[in-house]
Amino acid sequence: MSRQPNPFSNLAPDDIDAWVEGSTADAGRIIHEKGGVSDLSLTEDGDLLAWVEGSARHAVMVFFEDQILTSVCTCAKATACEHAVAVAYESLLLDPDGIALPAASEDDERLTLLSDLNDEASQVDLYLSSLSRDELIELILDLTDDIPEVDEELTCRMEEAFSEDEI
Ligand SMILES: [Zn+2]
Repeated sequence: MSRQPNPFSNLAPDDIDAWVEGSTADAGRIIHEKGGVSDLSLTEDGDLLAWVEGSARHAVMVFFEDQILTSVCTCAKATACEHAVAVAYESLLLDPDGIALPAASEDDERLTLLSDLNDEASQVDLYLSSLSRDELIELILDLTDDIPEVDEELTCRMEEAFSEDEI
């Protein structure tokens, strides 16, 4: 198995705190402390890949995009979740002097799971694009009826939009 240097060698706990805060960060720390992160490996692009066991098992990838810490995960939150925080903490345990992580193969199951996620997202995109304006309005009104958070968010945005008009 080929081994690569650790691109996360400059990562500090403060960077993780600045990235994800509050209860999500706490939950991530706890998952890490309980040993929930397993099979940490590095992709060809230098991204960290891991399995994270929280309430369910998730495939997680943590990486730098324009030097900013970011992540994708198979959980509902999808990014900057507790699972990603757990992986970031795990990476702090690695030897800072170019330690070695096993390389993830191209057909790694976690990469497949995460790319399926992207496919699902783009299919939703396609579906929305196929709807007419009236159908979109109907869909959004349905969502506001079914999901109180959507209703609240929409009311907020509406008030913002109206207050901008007044200026
Ligand atoms: Zn997650």
